[in-house]
Amino acid sequence: MTATRPQPRPGVLDIAAYVPGKSTAPGVDKVFKLSSNETPLGPSPRAIAAYNEIGKRLEDYPDGSASELREAIGKSFGLDPARIVCGAGSDDLLNLLARAYLADGDEAIHTTHGFLVYPIATLGTGAKPVVAAEKDFTADVDAILAAVTPKTKVVFLANPNNPTGTYIAFDEVKRLHRGLPPHVLLVIDAAYAEYVRRNDYESGIELVATTDNTVMCRTFSKIYGLAAVRLGWLYGPAHVVDAINRIRGPFNVNAPAIAAGIAAIQDSAHTEMARTHNEKWLAWLTQEIGKLGLAVTPSAANFVLIHFPDAKGRTAAEANAFLLKRGLILRQVGAYKLPNALRMSVGTEEANRLVVKSLSEFLGKTA
Ligand SMILES: *Cc1c(COP(=O)(O)O)cnc(C)c1O
Repeated sequence: MTATRPQPRPGVLDIAAYVPGKSTAPGVDKVFKLSSNETPLGPSPRAIAAYNEIGKRLEDYPDGSASELREAIGKSFGLDPARIVCGAGSDDLLNLLARAYLADGDEAIHTTHGFLVYPIATLGTGAKPVVAAEKDFTADVDAILAAVTPKTKVVFLANPNNPTGTYIAFDEVKRLHRGLPPHVLLVIDAAYAEYVRRNDYESGIELVATTDNTVMCRTFSKIYGLAAVRLGWLYGPAHVVDAINRIRGPFNVNAPAIAAGIAAIQDSAHTEMARTHNEKWLAWLTQEIGKLGLAVTPSAANFVLIHFPDAKGRTAAEANAFLLKRGLILRQVGAYKLPNALRMSVGTEEANRLVVKSLSEFLGKTA
């Protein structure tokens, strides 16, 4: 039967559109946005200056290959700029990878509480997202390998993962890679790599450098504080870079983003300050929220996942409403199969202290 109107490809209408973190708290003057893992310190002042400078020349197209930015990234991380592709956020790159490597009938694996962009990008191509169970809110290499079928083309792994904050050690990532057939693309999404302070962690650079089927995605949205301009990059084997360059938008990264990104990555003192702030307050929040009797999943990133009891009056939804009235915007994570948890980004000292105080009040304890 012929359809009476245009039909999206199979899979598209199965997509539950991504719902971004809230940014307003009605009726509250002072708001702390702790819902999207942005940095409380803002971007480097040099990045803001570079961004403003571009405002004088908006009539010119940007450099479509983002050469200067790729060189700055290459210099900062010791990578060949020819093997870097920049995108309008890593969302852009994750979608391009899906479009290049997935088609109708293929399968792409992600984990139970994995980043929601993976199933969205997968379904958009007509391929099927396959969920591998986690253990203790952490990716489980054995479960991922057990989920591989002859139809598997891509494995998406956020390391550390959002919204859990957990990571798997480099040995485990290597074991995952070793267990995959050579035609399966392993996509390591290391959006929070700059925050991780663990000796057994590796962001993915080494595996990309030494294998033919690993890609690493990174972002300027988190530690660099440039979420608004939409900027990310991937590092991959030459053949993957070639495929992505054929399908990406010719000017997929805008000129203000390029300028801000270059300045941000060169300001290592600012990045170090953000890392130090996070290290201190991540530990503090984990400890203080734990003292209130709430379980906090150990996080290697710039946010914590807080678990609430199932008891009426104490649930995540009720805590969220309570905090919202005080201007504290956290993230509900029901869409991540975590209906009774809230995710909180590490904020300023003021915000962090206010969350702990408010949670204490919420639970009816004395602060
Ligand atoms: C925030 C985040 C990103 C970054 O997305 P952008 O499109 O670069 O802003 C990517 N992956 C994960 C897991 C994230 O949490």
